[in-house]
Amino acid sequence: MSDPSCIFCRIVSGEIPAKKIYEDEQIIAFHDLEPQAPLHILITPKEHIPDLPHVKVEQEELLGKMLLVGSRLAEGEGVKGYRIVANTRSQGGQTVFHLHFHLLGGRQMTWPPG
Ligand code: 5GP
Ligand code: ZN
Repeated sequence: MSDPSCIFCRIVSGEIPAKKIYEDEQIIAFHDLEPQAPLHILITPKEHIPDLPHVKVEQEELLGKMLLVGSRLAEGEGVKGYRIVANTRSQGGQTVFHLHFHLLGGRQMTWPPG
């Protein structure tokens, strides 16, 4: 359930430090190392799931919970608006292959994203 070569698994285990903002038995959320907005948080399952297509039907509740945690964190931080996205595979901009949602807020978002 954990990949020792995966940077986010190492954050989950505490081997690599991160500015954690939320944790429960299934999920952790922490500040991105290179924030792209005043608020930039990553919401990730503790279990090593490489990306969205690897999510099993029986894990749909986990996905829903990740989104809800993201929204609650954004509301708690008091940003006026925000975006929650999952870059998926290289062409989708994914660079860390452990499923995560980006929560971005605290500035005007533009569309389309690059
Ligand atoms: P992706 O490119 O896969 O959508 O998102 C990966 C994100 O993880 C990037 O925004 C990157 O800045 C962030 N990141 C990569 N390594 C680390 C790390 O060691 N710690 C933290 N907090 N964020 C990281
Ligand atoms: Zn992992």
